Amino acid sequence: MNVTKDKAVTINYKMSNSAGEVLDNTEDGDLIYLHGHQNIMPGLENALNGLKSGDDFKITLKPEDAFGEKSDDRIITVGKENFETDNLEAGMQFQTLDHDENVVIATIIEVKDKDVVIDENHPLAGMTLIFEGKVIEVRDATEEEISHGHIHSGHDHHHHHDHDECCDHDH
Ligand code: ZN
Repeated sequence: MNVTKDKAVTINYKMSNSAGEVLDNTEDGDLIYLHGHQNIMPGLENALNGLKSGDDFKITLKPEDAFGEKSDDRIITVGKENFETDNLEAGMQFQTLDHDENVVIATIIEVKDKDVVIDENHPLAGMTLIFEGKVIEVRDATEEEISHGHIHSGHDHHHHHDHDECCDHDH
């Protein structure tokens, strides 16, 4: 069975950057996702389209197909009063809303007396990402899964932690 829209696709993969550093991998359990519903990043989803179970893949995503280029406009200074804690250090990451009200992961660059310099670029922005892995299984998704826009079985990798918000049933 081929990977097409509304299929439940199980993959494992290793994600590295162009320097060969491994940034993420599925060794703690395969990833199962619903194809065609933006459960995973669009560039990866496009590249998996049409593969079948057992296929190996090696996919290189340029920054524009992954998390975009880094933008200096997204490095901003905010007052410390915006944080709920005084325990702030360079390198810390947190979720926040950017000026377009999108949820983003921001990184603290520098902590000053009254202000904090943060980088609202995605931590993986500007990186070429290489995914190497295998398609483990492809099956038809259930009607319920398609209506929810995600999968109801298998290991939940950390790609859809908004699950509880949209489902009032157990998985
Ligand atoms: Zn659900």
